[in-house]
Amino acid sequence: MSKEIVVSGIRSTGHLHLGNYFGAIQNYIKMQDAYNCYFFVADYHSLTTHPDPKDLKANVFRVVSENIASGLDPEKVALYAQSDLPEIPELYLMLNMNAYMGELEKVPTFKDKVRQQPDNVNAGLLTYPVLMAADILIHRAVKVPVGKDQEPEVFRFNNDTVKIMSLDGTGKMSKSENINATIYLSDDDDTIKKKIMKAKTDAGPTEANAVMPDYIQNLFLLMHLSSKPEIVDIYRSAYNNCNIRYGDMKKQLAEDMAAFVRPIREHATELQKDEQKLRKILKDGAEKARESASKNIAEARKLIGINYY
Ligand code: ATP
Ligand code: MG
Repeated sequence: MSKEIVVSGIRSTGHLHLGNYFGAIQNYIKMQDAYNCYFFVADYHSLTTHPDPKDLKANVFRVVSENIASGLDPEKVALYAQSDLPEIPELYLMLNMNAYMGELEKVPTFKDKVRQQPDNVNAGLLTYPVLMAADILIHRAVKVPVGKDQEPEVFRFNNDTVKIMSLDGTGKMSKSENINATIYLSDDDDTIKKKIMKAKTDAGPTEANAVMPDYIQNLFLLMHLSSKPEIVDIYRSAYNNCNIRYGDMKKQLAEDMAAFVRPIREHATELQKDEQKLRKILKDGAEKARESASKNIAEARKLIGINYY
């Protein structure tokens, strides 16, 4: 039986962070054997925020290298740049004829972007979901894994994917927002420690087994993801008994998180020095992806009547 097709993308908007890792990449890695996976760097999507042209290439190569350093195997999946598949913008154009203004204007992420960048409400932002549809349909994917920060939920390999909040408690960790409260896979030990020591806490619970505020829950989640279970248990009991010292907890978390990120950072740095290799990975990935894209775009052309010769 042929494997089910999965598509997912990460925008080339900056450094990858713990949210991308635990919310998306870890899920990709679990899927890479059981599914026919197409994972891409969404470089066209990142143009909606008008990045500096001189940053784009490094950002694309960074996304690729940090994915591989996290454990994604380009031999098992098609790992490619969106802009290497001309079939995607072609399908996007076709789909745009069936995408209606009224609906596009109602998309919550569009409304958010209008608030965030009122001076740059470009048509690419409005039709962003149409480009996403093209990314998916170009391979006729049946499953689309996304992180928990994206609603509606579509598909996750299992239910233990998570949403990582930013350390100041104001939103989620992100490539392009909350930069000082986001831990990046490229952060050195010292930066990680500094960021964690500055994470938002409070005076501590005043009654036993109190409900945790979001920002404390997030620290426990990060600890659960990077520390030994017995360490998490110690702090959880301390919380429940109202004698937790957040300073100590953060120190421990900083150490464990730094140890967790270190090998990924080092591997990614190593890969980034070998541009030749990254280029080859992208070229091979594009070749694999174009096999399915060219078949499906031919079918789409036929379906809408572009079938002249
Ligand atoms: P940007 O700020 O440019 O939107 P981003 O950090 O939100 O960047 P995306 O490229 O939009 O990253 O998303 C890549 C993947 O990572 C998506 O599957 C998304 O759901 C997931 N993801 C992003 N941030 C988080 C987070 N804080 N927690 C869990 N998953 C996340
Ligand atoms: Mg995002």
